[in-house]
Amino acid sequence: MSDAIYDVVIIGGGPAGFSAAQYTARAKMKTVVIDKSQTAGALAFASLIENYPGLEKPVSGKELLDIFRRQAIRFGAEVVEAQVIGVSLDAETKQVFTMDQTYQGKSVIIATGSMGRKATIKGEAEFLGRGLSYCAICDAAFFKGKTVCVLGDSEEAVKEAGLLTRFAETVYLISPSQKLKVSDDHPALAAANLKVLTGLMTTAVEGGETVEKIKLKDTQGNESELQLSGVFVYMHGSKPVTDYLQGSVEVAEEECVVTNKMCEASIAGVFAAGDVTCTEVRQVVVAASQGCLAALSAEKFVFNKKKTKRDWHG
Ligand SMILES: Cc1cc2nc3c(=O)[nH]c(=O)nc-3n(C[C@H](O)[C@H](O)[C@H](O)COP(=O)(O)OP(=O)(O)OC[C@H]3O[C@@H](n4cnc5c(N)ncnc54)[C@H](O)[C@@H]3O)c2cc1C
Repeated sequence: MSDAIYDVVIIGGGPAGFSAAQYTARAKMKTVVIDKSQTAGALAFASLIENYPGLEKPVSGKELLDIFRRQAIRFGAEVVEAQVIGVSLDAETKQVFTMDQTYQGKSVIIATGSMGRKATIKGEAEFLGRGLSYCAICDAAFFKGKTVCVLGDSEEAVKEAGLLTRFAETVYLISPSQKLKVSDDHPALAAANLKVLTGLMTTAVEGGETVEKIKLKDTQGNESELQLSGVFVYMHGSKPVTDYLQGSVEVAEEECVVTNKMCEASIAGVFAAGDVTCTEVRQVVVAASQGCLAALSAEKFVFNKKKTKRDWHG
């Protein structure tokens, strides 16, 4: 665990997280943004944005995201590429856990978007933690010399498959679409032990104590099987990404983080912004404005602790 105590730890580097970061860093708050991947959020998926205020011409989501990031860094925010896997939010000093490090903060802003998905593949929920994983960096080492697969076609899926090739003997990258969402010369695709299979739906994960095989179906309906010991799921949906919070803050039935109008979550010192909240509208401008509100609330909390002690439900 690092000795540093941040004024604010921001989880997620999309428009919500980086807007919050530029406000807190500019207010001279010691700020860290922990983001699992520059290519995993909704904005990174948007091919063209033309309705964000201030744009004179359309830009790609990645370009806009890069502007958000550079702006936050320019004001002094630290940015770390890591996946948050857990939190401890009740104490005065809050803790945010990644595989390599524990980040401590006087406040936390949750901004992990809504690209999560429900377990939809037969056996997915059953084998979670028994060969099925959502985090290659967390679990790759368990599959040394084994055969694994990554399900997905995004740049994040390709990168994670590349990481797994350093551990597993064979890595299948299984894409439901006919073409991966990266160029053919992406460095991760060069690994000799990576085999790319496209146009295949994974219909079931099966095994005994742990994963032993997956079942696949092609676009013509032909079925096949692959024997393997690990399945890494990197497919996206539209569910708020709150799994790592493990029930520590109030979430609604749809699993979005419940906040008040100043983006305060159910625990003092914890705030949320953007698509991860129970917002009616998922747009960049809304995420950015909520990031601003969350930052101002965090600033108020950190600098006027006694005054902001509040009764959430009252
Ligand atoms: C295809 C598409 C097109 C769109 N087009 C438009 C448009 O034209 N105009 C518009 O205004 N909006 C558009 N949107 C919506 C807009 O992109 C979102 O509303 C906005 O990006 C939400 O911002 P956010 O910061 O809340 O979440 P995101 O942009 O999703 O960012 C979340 C961040 O959290 C990170 N993260 C997730 N889990 C973890 C974890 N465990 N640890 C660390 N980091 C984590 C991700 O890496 C990501 O960087 C579009 C969305 C999509 C998918």
